[in-house]
Amino acid sequence: MTTHEEPVDSVLETIGRTPLVRLQDGPADVPIYAKLESFNPGASVKDRIGRYMIARLLERGDVSHGGTVVEPTAGNTGIGFAIAAEQLGLEAVFVVPERFSVEKQQLMAALGADVINTPTADGMDGAIERAHELAAELEDAVVPQQFSNPLNTEAHYETTAPEIYDALDGRVGAVVAGCGTAGTLMGIARYALECDPETRIIAVEPEGSVYGDLLGEDREESEYKIEGIGTHDTATNELFEPELVDHIEAIADRDAHDELKRLAREEGHLVASSAGAASVAAKRVARRIADGDLDVPHETVVTIFPDSSERYLSKGIYRSFEEWTS
Ligand code: PMP
Repeated sequence: MTTHEEPVDSVLETIGRTPLVRLQDGPADVPIYAKLESFNPGASVKDRIGRYMIARLLERGDVSHGGTVVEPTAGNTGIGFAIAAEQLGLEAVFVVPERFSVEKQQLMAALGADVINTPTADGMDGAIERAHELAAELEDAVVPQQFSNPLNTEAHYETTAPEIYDALDGRVGAVVAGCGTAGTLMGIARYALECDPETRIIAVEPEGSVYGDLLGEDREESEYKIEGIGTHDTATNELFEPELVDHIEAIADRDAHDELKRLAREEGHLVASSAGAASVAAKRVARRIADGDLDVPHETVVTIFPDSSERYLSKGIYRSFEEWTS
């Protein structure tokens, strides 16, 4: 289930079927399992949407072989799309605001993509605008738009979720996952609620992010350091469906940072800040279940570790909290 034992013809066939590993630090009687998405070839959960979305866009005729994928992205999505684009015969262009991690931009270029920087001051909106301008100038181009395209959610409904349910024989009580686009959580949530409508769905965001507003939890907006999850403007997060979510855990940068370091030191996981946040949230949920404060159909919690800490070494991820956040 979680290994690739047969020889395969393409790196695309190694996407998914990632390991599901029990966390050692949870309550003894409520196991927490983390799905390790850094085992994908581009080392993140976004390889799944790269392969799935590009294959569907080609099938639907939204772009044809030899055409171009143009996506505004801060990183992991670009890497996932770059791998799939090259293998499926498309060009890839990514529009990245200057401030984002140099590792990610170098990897996109190494995978054959063109990387175009937009000024940091123009934010992600500036990158989105430039991506659409570029796509309009090109003959045969598509902007997959991970923030609004339901194919993002579908990729997780079709792959991530069934892998989890097969591995645990359907015994899942709560799903806890960070939300950037929210594609990962929404895809798993839909599948989970079809299996058992009593399954608890818990979203994770950094303190300072405002997803909580959508569930009527009053949030105060501020900057945060945790990367890959959270939002400052929920109007851009079109895939998030509040009616599927029971609760949103807000995690402080410091707690996520302490946890990602603990996960490396004590459990051998080289994971980044969004995984640190997911782990803190999953442990809180498991504790509530263990204490009898949260009813679940099965006393098992599942979470997602989206990527690897190696991608953030230049940002000082393993230095002190003060150095990491400065
Ligand atoms: N963690 C990291 C490091 C990510 O890059 C992302 C994607 N932005 C996520 C978590 C969240 O995934 P999703 O977009 O599916 O909500």
